[in-house]
Parts: sequence; structure tokens; C-alpha cells
Amino acid sequence: MARPKLIKERVPTPERPVEERIKSFVEVNLGYDFASAVKEAERCIQCPPEYAPCIKGCPVHINIPGFLKALRENADNPDEAVKNALRVIWNDNTLPAVTGRVCPQEEQCEAPCVMGKVGDPINIGKLERFVADYAREKGIDEELLGEFIAETDGKGKVAVVGAGPAGLTCALELAKMGYKVTIFEALHEAGGVLMYGIPEFRLPKDILKTELDKLEKLGVEVKTNYIVGKTVTVEELLQEYDAAFISTGAGTPKLLNIPGILLDRIYSANEFLTRVNLMKAYKFPEYDTPIAVGKKVIVIGAGNTAMDAARSALRLGAEVTIAYRRGREDMTARIEEIAHAEEEGVKFEFFLTPVEFIGDENGKVKAVKFMKMRPLEERDSRGKRKIEPTGEYVTLEADTVIIAIGLEPNKILVEASGFETNPDGTLVVDENLMTSIPGVFAGGDAIRGEATVILAMGDGKKAAKAIDEYIRSRRANA
Ligand SMILES: Cc1cc2nc3c(=O)[nH]c(=O)nc-3n(C[C@H](O)[C@H](O)[C@H](O)COP(=O)(O)OP(=O)(O)OC[C@H]3O[C@@H](n4cnc5c(N)ncnc54)[C@H](O)[C@@H]3O)c2cc1C
Ligand code: SF4
Repeated sequence: MARPKLIKERVPTPERPVEERIKSFVEVNLGYDFASAVKEAERCIQCPPEYAPCIKGCPVHINIPGFLKALRENADNPDEAVKNALRVIWNDNTLPAVTGRVCPQEEQCEAPCVMGKVGDPINIGKLERFVADYAREKGIDEELLGEFIAETDGKGKVAVVGAGPAGLTCALELAKMGYKVTIFEALHEAGGVLMYGIPEFRLPKDILKTELDKLEKLGVEVKTNYIVGKTVTVEELLQEYDAAFISTGAGTPKLLNIPGILLDRIYSANEFLTRVNLMKAYKFPEYDTPIAVGKKVIVIGAGNTAMDAARSALRLGAEVTIAYRRGREDMTARIEEIAHAEEEGVKFEFFLTPVEFIGDENGKVKAVKFMKMRPLEERDSRGKRKIEPTGEYVTLEADTVIIAIGLEPNKILVEASGFETNPDGTLVVDENLMTSIPGVFAGGDAIRGEATVILAMGDGKKAAKAIDEYIRSRRANA
């Protein structure tokens, strides 16, 4: 039998033109339509699920060939095709509109895809996104949700602390098993970084909100404005709940301990992005949170947070430069985001470490002094080239600086409840993700430090299984 012809090139997804998108916060990538999604799905050679490397590369192990097959099997009936594909995805991942948009697929499912050996890997992320978007637009997700609603038959009650991707996933998985789940969230809206960190032009908030609506439909209660450790303690929660899951993330910005750090218009990326995304400062005065951005912005760092801050500042009318202490190939942001930032006109300066912020007579930042660095042959534990100072300096003008050099876990909850922690402030957990307090599990950035959405979701899913086993065995032994 003749082998089907391998189609090496992926079907592209359209994007909003640069001139148009830099004037607003509307989403940049426009995604597939049904015909192009089927065409792309047809490139998949359907590796058997027990072997398919894409499934292994996905931290929540979505049956990727399974959902691609469902899409193309009903090419003449789009609604049916999408419903079947979404069912396969939801078995492992209940937030596909989010992960399809923000996962670094090039390092996960798409990295080992066998089609990548002969051409482009299958565009798994965009296909996942297509299924979620089409289903939402046609109300297919509403229909399907019914299949996942479980009886809450007195199985048990679980408290989840923090409504980011780890907490949301844990809550959704437990709700699907029939547990009564309550999420306690410090901010006034659920979503964690998805809500306050990642901008609309990558993850539109109305799409996120529809994903969040699932919580209510699956019977999960969300209590916002609840800071666990202050409003209520973990000990108090354990009097009412059978178990708890801590997913408080890593929301405390690391700052630079150098002269001038307290000058006006030096922001942490967290403050900058929270103002822009959560408080919608880009719509000031329609929304009442202001944001002061000058004409020349320097963003320090080169992760996703730095790209988001830079592209947001650009949309607020500034000229933006990213300054990074290492080289281009060491940047940790998603490749797509780096490419978008470059297309939009963000400038990049490499091998620069800030040593001083210089202010004007009014206490506002006016320049940043950098030490020039040089790369070494040697690599660090993460495979990045080590760098060393050259002894030379350069000063770049800036009227606004945004620091995006990393995040660490917040200490409020940890200190209030006496959890055992690692030196970097992350919670110590065992192989079942149980913390040093029995019955209290943890996952996501709270145990990993700043990581990714899908790893946080993977932890949420793993913890849900462990919590189920914990509660069942306690009840069996009671
Ligand atoms: C700007 C930015 C862009 C990013 N872009 C990407 C990307 O493109 N792709 C990707 O994979 N990853 C990205 N990341 C990383 C990713 O967002 C995180 O790894 C992920 O959100 C971690 O999920 P989490 O649930 O552990 O924590 P979070 O999303 O941080 O959620 C924690 C939640 O807990 C709440 N909380 C904290 N303390 C308490 C308390 N004491 N009581 C109650 N609630 C509390 C917080 O308010 C928050 O809502 C980005 C991160 C940032 C900051
Ligand atoms: S590895 Fe690539 S080709 Fe193989 S099943 Fe996964 S998506 Fe399809």
C-alpha cells in the first residue's frame, strides 16, 4: 500500500498586522478556522497513543493523536468533530483555550513530534486552541460540560488556596470526581497570573472568563478577597475541610539591590502588568487605575514577563528596549512572544547588567547604567552560557524602567502556618505533593518557583488524585 504523502509545512495561522495591533490590546494571533484546522490535523501520522512522543511531552498527557483524529474523522460535520475532540482534551485538561495560547509547545508536546524530524512539527497548540474556541463560540462546551458534572455525594470537602492554573485544575479535577471544593483567592478575581499577568493580546480576558465559568458549573465555590494566612488560617480551614491544596504561586517580584532602585517610575513587572491587565489601566480614565509610562522604557529581563511588560508599554505609546544580561539564545520567553515583540519594534540589548539607576532633580529615573558582560564557554546547571563582567559600562536613557528578573513565593501563608520550605522559599512536598502538614498538598509555582502554566496544571491534576486517595484511605480507616 502506498504511504500517504508527508506534508512537511504546517498550515499557518493568520495574525493581526503589526501596525494595527500595536495600537490596541486585541489578540495578535487569530487562530485556525475549521477547514485549516482539519488540514493541519491531517498532517499528523497518528503515532499509536502508547508510544506517541507528543503525549509524553505534554505535562498533563493529553491524547493528542486522539483529538486530532476526532477532528479529521468528522470533517463534514464540524460541530460533531469539535465535540469529540474537546471530549478527548477535557479528559486531561479542562483549560485548553488557555494552554493552547500560552504553553511553550516548542519545548513540550511539539518538541518530540515525529513530524518535526522531516519538517514542521504538528501545530498542536493552535489546534487545541481551535477546538476550545470553536466549541465556546458554538456553545458546544456547554453541552459537553453536562457529561462531566458529578454527584457530590458526601465524598468530602477540599479547600484550594489560590485560583491560578494549579488551583483551578485541582479544583476542576476534584469536582469531576464528586468532591465539594471551595477556592480561596486573595485578589478580587480568579485566574492568578492568567488574569493579572498575561496581557489581553495573548489571552483575551473574556475567553479566560468563559474558562473560569466552568468552575461554577461544576459546582466549585470561589471565595475572592480571602488571604489565607490572614483572613483565615490553614489550621482553621482544616477544621472544616478534609484536605487542602496550596497553589499560591510565586508572586513576589525579585528586585535589584542597586543604587537608585527607589526612584520614581521604576516598576516591578508585576505591578506594571497588574495595573494594565487586572485593573485595565490602559483604559484609564474609563477604569480608574492610572499608569504612568514615559516615552523611553527599559525592561530588564528576557522571560515571558519581560516580553509581556515590553509589549504592553509599547501599546501605551512608548519606545521600548529590553536589556538582558545574557545573549539572544539564552532568553527564556516563548519563541512566538520574542518574535512578536521584535516584529512590533521592541529593541533588544544583550550582555548588559544594570548597576545603577540615575535620577533627575525630581526623583524620577532618567537613565540606567549597565556593566557590559561577556559570554564564557562554560554552561550553568540550566545549560545557559555563563557570563562575566568586562569592566566596561554603558548608560542608556530611560524615563521608565520595568524590572522583570524573576519572582519568588510569597511568605504570608508559609510563615503563618509553619510549612517546611526550601532555601528559595518554595514549599517542601513529598512524591504525592503532600506538604509537611498532613492533609495539606501543594503544587505549581509555590513548589517549583516561577515555572509554566502547564506544569502548574499537571501538579493540580496529580494532587487531585493524591487528595482523593488520602481522603478515601482516611475514611476507610476511620
Ligand atoms: C507576566 C507573566 C507571563 C507568563 N507567561 C507565561 C506563558 O506564556 N506560558 C507559561 O506557561 N507560563 C507563563 N508564565 C508563568 C505562569 O503564569 C506560572 O507558572 C503559573 O501561573 C503558575 O500557576 P500557579 O497556579 O502555581 O500560580 P499563580 O498563577 O501565581 O496563581 C496563584 C494565585 O494564588 C493567589 N494567592 C497567593 N497567595 C495567596 C494567599 N495567601 N491566599 C489566597 N490566595 C493567594 C494569587 O493571588 C494567585 O491568584 C508567566 C508568568 C508571568 C508572571
Ligand atoms: S508525535 Fe506528532 S505526528 Fe505523532 S501523533 Fe503526536 S502530533 Fe501526531
